[in-house]
Amino acid sequence: FIKFSKIMKITANNPNRKSWLDVNKNSDFPIQNIPFGVFLTRDDITTIGTRIGDYAIDLAALHQLGYFEGIPLTDDIFMQDTLNDFITDGRMTWRLVRNRIADIFDETNPKLRDQEKHRDTVIFEMDQIEMLLPVQIGDYTDFYSSKDHAMNVGSMFRDPENALFPNWLHLPVGYHGRASSIVVSGTKVRRPVGQTMPPGAESPAFGPSKLLDFEVEMAFITTDANKLGKSIPLTDARDYIFGMVLMNDWSARDLQKWEYVPLGPFLGKSFATTVSPWIVTLDALEPFKAKGPDQEPAPLPYLKEEGETSYDIQIETFIKPKKEEETLVSVTNFKNLYWSISQQLAHQTVNGCNVRTGDLYGSGTISGKDKKSFGSMLELTWAGKNPVKMNDGTERKFIQNGDTVIMRGFCQNNEIRLGFGECRGKVKKAHAPEKNS
Ligand code: MN
Repeated sequence: FIKFSKIMKITANNPNRKSWLDVNKNSDFPIQNIPFGVFLTRDDITTIGTRIGDYAIDLAALHQLGYFEGIPLTDDIFMQDTLNDFITDGRMTWRLVRNRIADIFDETNPKLRDQEKHRDTVIFEMDQIEMLLPVQIGDYTDFYSSKDHAMNVGSMFRDPENALFPNWLHLPVGYHGRASSIVVSGTKVRRPVGQTMPPGAESPAFGPSKLLDFEVEMAFITTDANKLGKSIPLTDARDYIFGMVLMNDWSARDLQKWEYVPLGPFLGKSFATTVSPWIVTLDALEPFKAKGPDQEPAPLPYLKEEGETSYDIQIETFIKPKKEEETLVSVTNFKNLYWSISQQLAHQTVNGCNVRTGDLYGSGTISGKDKKSFGSMLELTWAGKNPVKMNDGTERKFIQNGDTVIMRGFCQNNEIRLGFGECRGKVKKAHAPEKNS
């Protein structure tokens, strides 16, 4: 079926297509996007859906009404709490379903457009529904694939002359993270407590993290791919990637600094990771393929990749202090990443590690060359030395209680703009000390 998916056209991407649903020209969700998500309807029913403009579309209801006739789908494929079963169906099914949705909502197609009863069952306004975590995430990997980020952190904490470790240019460095604390956009994040070693102290302190940070990342989600012991060749990797989301990999820098030697990130990362609710498929991102940075020295053959291996996705990050307006603090781009998603997946599996449906792979903090493109407060303030000014006159070295961190990502060419919506999380104060002991 993989070969079939390579020749089957992505008709959903036709840039000239218009929907009979209203779509604002700055919307992240034109008819060319057709992302997948899971939501709770006004009748308290959980369903799989897509989004066009500010409308959420119940795919289970569409399926029940026969609109997916001719596509091999089980009856309950969209009547699920997660997208896992649909993702397991594979790339050909994703493409057939996306193409069909584009047809159903095309302005020239009267079938659903002129059928009021069906429309009322299938279409919801976004403010009538609640978005849920779209997949059940089994395993979570976080890479470290931005060279500018690795250089910044390396020069800050070690030595500007040797900022990159010797392995960095030869493999996509990563670690296995915690899947249970990945939450959907909108979920409040509690400031973690833990051990830190304050500068100059002789023994560790215990209490709320004082250096709470965000990390601007994107993540991809896989389908069942390889059996344990087999690897996925780089050239096949994208057939097993369903799509991408925005991700805020919340980080407690003071906990992290004390705990990370010698085995890497642990509790400073595992208290929360926020993802955006709509998974934008690789098919939808196809028109936005872009060249990544040149790779020098050339990677080993199993990691060698040529051409447009990245995507042009601009990501903007805002901090919104309690009751105040948002301040834009960072503008970066996914194409800044040194290692591509195919290289990451090929590397993840080269040792025979099996990947499964719903696994999530974070890119690592996405920073660029200029200061405004840094993807964390750690870098933007250079470890707190240069605070960031907010529009309300206050300053931030790190994230304060009551602050909301919002990431928005989108792609734009001469013909269309599509995006990921928001990845948003508000920070709540840490639990009172008596609850911590
Ligand atoms: Mn990270």
